[in-house]
Amino acid sequence: MSYEVRAVVAMKSGAPVEVQTIRVPEPGPGEVLVSVQACGVCHTDLHYREGAINDEFPFLLGHEAAGTVDAVGEGVTDLAPGDYVVLAWRAPCGNCRSCRRGRPWYCFDSRNAVQPMTLLDGTPLSPALGIGAFAEKTLVAAGQAVKVDPAARPEAAGLIGCGVMAGYGAAVNTGGVSRGDTVAVIGCGGVGNAAIAGASLSGARRVIAVDIDDRKLDGATRFGATHTVNSQGTDPVEAVRALTDGFGVDIAIDAVGRPETFLQAFYMRDHAGTVVQVGVPDPQMKLELPLIDVFSRGGAVKSSWYGDCLPTRDFPVLIDQFLSGKLDLNGFVSETIALEQVEAAFTKMHRGEVLRSVVVL
Ligand SMILES: [Zn+2]
Ligand SMILES: [Zn+2]
Repeated sequence: MSYEVRAVVAMKSGAPVEVQTIRVPEPGPGEVLVSVQACGVCHTDLHYREGAINDEFPFLLGHEAAGTVDAVGEGVTDLAPGDYVVLAWRAPCGNCRSCRRGRPWYCFDSRNAVQPMTLLDGTPLSPALGIGAFAEKTLVAAGQAVKVDPAARPEAAGLIGCGVMAGYGAAVNTGGVSRGDTVAVIGCGGVGNAAIAGASLSGARRVIAVDIDDRKLDGATRFGATHTVNSQGTDPVEAVRALTDGFGVDIAIDAVGRPETFLQAFYMRDHAGTVVQVGVPDPQMKLELPLIDVFSRGGAVKSSWYGDCLPTRDFPVLIDQFLSGKLDLNGFVSETIALEQVEAAFTKMHRGEVLRSVVVL
């Protein structure tokens, strides 16, 4: 048996996405079927539809989702129909060389559903980041469905499945922000603001938001930025030093992912400080940096994949912080939309008009 549901599909590179009826199978061993309630529109979905990730069209888009478990396959013991879950694109295998060394957040063999979801003619779909949640129902590996407190509304909860977790984790897990640290975050979109929130909740003394758009800087203060720097017309490195007694910050987070912003982050930190890159660069970008500066400034240069998160450990924490009023997930929800409006949401996102458009099903 299978289900026919409506879903957003990218049929070919650069073409507008379409709402199509797709077929979703009953869950097999280790799989769960999830009724999606809400799913955020992320830059990565747009990258898929532009063919910038790979060429395995057609793609079933959507990957920042919350919903309820409809059915579980054989061998799934820790989830039951009715459970409220946020979907993760990291489900550690437990067996790879990283998992075996106790670092499951670097898992090299993350789990996904085995059976394909298809178009009605049987063409298999490639689900974005192994999820595919711009759909009334989706099929994932059981490990991808992380139970959280059902009191958190799905429009907000789903966002921790990707961008919010990436930014928050870049500060907390990768950057290791702790009490008394000074932190700068370059780029105040969804990921950057989540890094600001994570840094603030971890006890950072100063959290300096850097962007080229005053509207975004205003927004960043809502998430815990203590100071803002508009880097258009001001040297952000000098400005950040001026705000930190001339020294620079302990942790500088590049949430943009361009050579210019990486270099800003590199030089705006204090000696022996940490640079965290969480913004995803384009493949052709190159970095030029005096090697002596890498050596003599000390510290650490790190990249953060999905905020180095462990979804089963981190998702429930973020949801608890949301429910207790500490983490403003509602602040990331710029608008709620229908499946048919995803293409229009890409345009708004590209223009920087929204933090997140969220599809509600
Ligand atoms: Zn693994
Ligand atoms: Zn994403």
